[in-house]
Amino acid sequence: MARNPRFDVLFEPVHIGPVTAPNRFYQVPHASGMTNALPQVRAAFRGVKAEGGWGVVCTGAVSIHPSSDDSPLPFASLWDDKDIRAHALMTDAVHRHGSLAGIELWHGGACTLNRTSRIAPLSPSGMPWLSTHLGFMGNLRPRAMDAGDIRELLRWQAAGARRAMLAGFDIVYVYAGMGYLPYEFLLPEYNRRTDAYGGPIANRVRLVKELLEVTRDAVGDRCGVALRISLEELRGRPGAHAPSEAHEVVTLLADIPDLWDVKMDSSPTDCAPSRFAAEGSHEPIVNFVKQVTRRPVVGVGRFTSPDVMVSQVKRGILDLIGGARPSIADPFLPNKINEGREHEIRECIGCNICISSWHDGVPVRCTQNPTAGEEWRRGWHPERFAGPGSDSAILIVGGGPAGLECAVTLARRGYPVTLADAAREFGGRLRFERGLPGLAEWGRVVDWRMARLRERPNVHLYPGGELSADDVLGLEHRHVVIATGARWTKMLFSTLEFPVGDLDVPGVYTPDDLADGVVPPAPVVVFDFDNYYMGGAVAEKLAAHGSVTYVTPAGNASAWTFMTNELPLVHRALTKAGVAIHTLRRVTGFDGTAVTLADVYAGTESRIGCRSLVIVGVRRSTDDLYEALLAQGAALERAGIASVTRIGDALAPGAIVHAVHGGHRYARELDAPVAAAPYSRDFPV
Ligand code: ADP
Ligand code: SF4
Repeated sequence: MARNPRFDVLFEPVHIGPVTAPNRFYQVPHASGMTNALPQVRAAFRGVKAEGGWGVVCTGAVSIHPSSDDSPLPFASLWDDKDIRAHALMTDAVHRHGSLAGIELWHGGACTLNRTSRIAPLSPSGMPWLSTHLGFMGNLRPRAMDAGDIRELLRWQAAGARRAMLAGFDIVYVYAGMGYLPYEFLLPEYNRRTDAYGGPIANRVRLVKELLEVTRDAVGDRCGVALRISLEELRGRPGAHAPSEAHEVVTLLADIPDLWDVKMDSSPTDCAPSRFAAEGSHEPIVNFVKQVTRRPVVGVGRFTSPDVMVSQVKRGILDLIGGARPSIADPFLPNKINEGREHEIRECIGCNICISSWHDGVPVRCTQNPTAGEEWRRGWHPERFAGPGSDSAILIVGGGPAGLECAVTLARRGYPVTLADAAREFGGRLRFERGLPGLAEWGRVVDWRMARLRERPNVHLYPGGELSADDVLGLEHRHVVIATGARWTKMLFSTLEFPVGDLDVPGVYTPDDLADGVVPPAPVVVFDFDNYYMGGAVAEKLAAHGSVTYVTPAGNASAWTFMTNELPLVHRALTKAGVAIHTLRRVTGFDGTAVTLADVYAGTESRIGCRSLVIVGVRRSTDDLYEALLAQGAALERAGIASVTRIGDALAPGAIVHAVHGGHRYARELDAPVAAAPYSRDFPV
């Protein structure tokens, strides 16, 4: 198909100093959880994006010195020449497809606690960064840099830039964002210096300017020099000579970098989750930059709509459409637009599971794209699939995320696939969950897959029929996949988190009851020890119908959403909805008029009057059909069934990302030779 001329502007080349990006699709630096210890995994992950049409593909943060040590979080390094080869694998993979490779050289300053290197963290004036935030709660405080330390920092940046050039990078960054060292120099609260680097904004910006200059000297006219900078806080501060300090900083540095990469200051606003921010949410902060500099500007905003991208360019907000999450969810986004297949873009849902992988210290995972991080180690290409290994027909029972992904991938391999679901609509858990406050975009998991299934002649869809073991035997498929999901239980836990049985008394509900349309009479207590989104989202939804109190044994509401940047926003939303939050309490009983609570540490008892209790705790696999089929024994074989396999929540309840991955894996591995190990192991070079 031909490209829609409306999108032509997105395919114009852009000059970035001495190098030229072939189009406006720019994968900005983002954490991938792939350190120098996984060089092939990393090269393949980024090479696939170049293949998919991203004109520039960047690294994540690359530390320039052991005093920028983010352990135990994963980060890359370019500390000495031995690190060069690991990065060269990536630049080769990106260049193979005609794209440019960018490297984000990085010094974390007081944000990195140097847990491995044991070097006192560096900072402008010895101020700890966000010291009550769990990630920064270190017990070795930063030290103030002297003039010699500043000279050393400039030397490390220059050495890093030279090594980056030797590794084959085309764009080299100075990174002054997100609390990292050069950014700390910009803020007077952290920069209390009285020398030439502190005081008025022209002094506070000096370090960034010098970092840009030494980088330029190191790379000459071989590479473009980019500045990545956070502007949110500075935009809120009135300037002495301009509307804000952000205007002043950009004016002072205007044409020194070859490229401005502009962003927000904190993870929850920068990588804003879709629950709380729409596409393009950075615009009000970064919209002035192009008016102040003649250099090209790149910015992000979870852009997945080509019309929104065109609008950003035409309205003079951005020159290059930055993408981190959209490039993970669909590495082939640019090519799909280029080929007139924009309706096939697998849009990022803004769940931030990718970010949780980084916080977990492992290679990136994605809810929408199960091949992310698996390109090299499992050989999964996002758009290419092995043909069928047999003429077997496959029956999938259950059309939630696991069943849908399994069906799409089997269909793309060319197998005849039947997908059945008891419900009249496919989508599984997401039929309900996409209607919870803020979760509408998560429905893309279902919509993208349903659209792909409807395009395929080898797919038969059977909604609205609950299948029994006898039904399955009668359907004559060679392989049966059970994707029947999981149900919430009314299980409670003891102080030691031992399961103590179900609280099965009148007035107790689970999210499945709400999915079935029950509205629990108010006042309601929501007791959440699942800790992810469900408890908070249900409390917020029910608050529209009456008084809601949220209780959790954890220290925060939706405590695990710390991993996805959503936690502060969940608290804000619950407070705004009028939900009272009780942390560090567990429910011990309910008599229809009140719940009894115990403090998790002290055991002190209390009561909250209510008519309903919603327990959001433990889920149990719906495996009765699976068990019933296994009990058929030889009858299975007589019915021509060679295998019955559970996937997704029916195997092990979990987040949607795991169900999608499980469904994909089944489909990739069907009829494939059994591998000696689940995946190839990567080693440092
Ligand atoms: P997962 O996250 O693993 O995909 P979900 O709970 O989202 O699981 O989806 C499971 C789906 O399976 C639901 O849509 C449910 O209606 C369907 N289902 C469960 N049991 C049966 C059955 N016996 N026959 C047909 N569909 C079923
Ligand atoms: Fe988008 Fe979620 Fe995938 Fe991250 S994990 S890229 S937020 S869909």
